[in-house]
Amino acid sequence: MPPYAPHAAGPHAAGEDTHAAEHSRPDVEVRTSTRRRKTVAAYWEGDHIVVVVPAHLRGRALATTVDELARRVERHRPNLTLGDEALHARAVALGHAYLDDIRPASIRWSSRQQKRWGSCDPAERTIRISERLRHVPGWVLDAVIVHELAHLLDASHSARFRGLVDRYPRSADASVFLEGYALGCACATGDLQEPDDT
Ligand SMILES: [Zn+2]
Repeated sequence: MPPYAPHAAGPHAAGEDTHAAEHSRPDVEVRTSTRRRKTVAAYWEGDHIVVVVPAHLRGRALATTVDELARRVERHRPNLTLGDEALHARAVALGHAYLDDIRPASIRWSSRQQKRWGSCDPAERTIRISERLRHVPGWVLDAVIVHELAHLLDASHSARFRGLVDRYPRSADASVFLEGYALGCACATGDLQEPDDT
C-alpha cells in the first residue's frame, strides 16, 4: 500500500507558520494483518509511522482509524534523526512562540551532558542538549529547549525565570516525565545520582 497522508488538508497547512519541527508531516505506511482481528498498532519506524490495521477495514473506517492512530503516535516522535540544524530551527520556532523571539547563537546535541538535560552559556548564547533526550517525545525535548532558551533572558532559576518557562504549556508535564526518565536511566546504568536541573 502506498504511503498515506494522515491529514493533508488538516489545520496545519504547509507554510502556515514557522513551527517547522511540529508541522513536518511524516509519511504513514499502512500494513494489514489478518492475525490482528481486533487490535491495531502504530509506531515510528525510522522517519515514518507504521500503522497496522485488520485486513477487513475498508474505506472511511480504514481512513479514520489510520488518521486517528497516526495523529496519536505523531506527537511521540522520537528525536533520533534530528540533526543540529533541525535542533536550531526548533529552538528558533520555540523562541518565537514563547520567548519574545529569543534565539541562541548556537544549539547542539552533546554526548557530554550525562548529568544534565541541557546547559546554557548566556554570555556566549550557546546551548547544549544532552543526547539522552533523543529518546524522549518531541514535546519533552521542546520543554528542555524552552528552559535553556529562558536562561538567555535570566541565568538564575528565579520566579521570573519560572514564569518564562511556564509559557510553554507542558512545562510541568515535562518535568514529571524527565524525573521518571532520569530514574529509568539511573537504574539502567546503576548510577542513582540525580541529574542536575540546569
Ligand atoms: Zn536551568
